[in-house]
Amino acid sequence: MIDERSSGRWLPGGMMDSSTYLDEDRHHSARRFARRLYIPRIIGLATGFFCVSSVLVMQPVSGWWWLLLVAYCFIWPHFAWQTADRASDPARAEIRNLMADSIMGGVWIAVMGLNALPSALILAMLCMNNVGCGGLKLFLGGLGIIVLSCVLTLGLLHIPLNLQTMPSQVWICLPFLLIYPAYFGLVSYRTALKLSEHKRRLMLMSTRDGMTGVYNRRHWEHLLHGEYDNCQRYQRSATLLLIDIDHFKSINDSFGHDVGDEAILAITEHLQLTLRITDVIGRFGGDEFGVIMSGTSQESAIQAMARVREYLEEFRLPHAPHISLHISVGVAEFDQSMMNYREWLKAADVALYKAKNLGRSRTEVYDIAA
Ligand code: GH3
Ligand code: MG
Repeated sequence: MIDERSSGRWLPGGMMDSSTYLDEDRHHSARRFARRLYIPRIIGLATGFFCVSSVLVMQPVSGWWWLLLVAYCFIWPHFAWQTADRASDPARAEIRNLMADSIMGGVWIAVMGLNALPSALILAMLCMNNVGCGGLKLFLGGLGIIVLSCVLTLGLLHIPLNLQTMPSQVWICLPFLLIYPAYFGLVSYRTALKLSEHKRRLMLMSTRDGMTGVYNRRHWEHLLHGEYDNCQRYQRSATLLLIDIDHFKSINDSFGHDVGDEAILAITEHLQLTLRITDVIGRFGGDEFGVIMSGTSQESAIQAMARVREYLEEFRLPHAPHISLHISVGVAEFDQSMMNYREWLKAADVALYKAKNLGRSRTEVYDIAA
């Protein structure tokens, strides 16, 4: 049987409604949010049990309070998780659970007659939990609920105040004081690590070409823009190269796209091995690459390309060993008269076009005087 919630809404033609994807995504992340609170709640309430018990054993309370304490500390965490996980809106259900925790926190503080240390600990842990899950709003809302339920319980049950904490109670409260915040900190630390890893991956995805791993065109042009600005401002030299594989279409047509991809990867790898670490390589299009050589004259750039060509003469594709790869290169050195980076790029493109027209497998330089 297909689970309706996970199957989503299908539009005529087999397309899935994009709002359904979003709803599903929201639902899953809300379930994850509820799940993240499951273990901390188990730990917090198990250690909190001893904290409250240390006070209750010292005062005449009915057996019902003990029953409630055991049920709340050891059954409630599982019930709370189950209700949130099965709810149509798990996030909302979990917020309700947190509010229930705040109500019960206030009740226990009152039942203990506001015994100083256990009461302060329960208040601190609940506030830490609420602020960690829902920011300032949940913190203030939770605090209000704790105070209200505490005052109501004190008033309704006429519980006498018992502010003094005995040394033995301090020791019994220690696990609650140490374990819960440490676990909470660990969860926050892991979340921060995951977030920074996601950020790094997103950064890679948005700046790199998926196949070759060098910069994609958008980011490479962004770097070129920066290089142009630097050259203009500090009168620095830089050379720009556009490299295009010759007759690449025929490699694709004769040997298939996989071999074509192999050729693109081989050229990328060799550019990375041959050029300086400071040279900025980008995949400009299908079989076209751009290289920004900062602080480099066009003569040095041409020499670097001669080295690449030498290697390619020898290189053979494993799946098409009888063909050799050839490249055409357009070179344009930065010139102060260029109005913007696009003009610089255009100059390299003109030089590349010239190399193609003059028979390919060669390097041509943009002639600024022409
Ligand atoms: P020229 O010598 O004038 O450069 O001719 P060419 O055959 O190399 O023509 P062009 O540079 O215009 O061809 C680029 C081809 O690259 C067109 C496209 O089918 C192919 N291509 C683009 N991206 C990829 C890719 O990622 N993998 C493969 N295998 N081929 C690609
Ligand atoms: Mg080509």
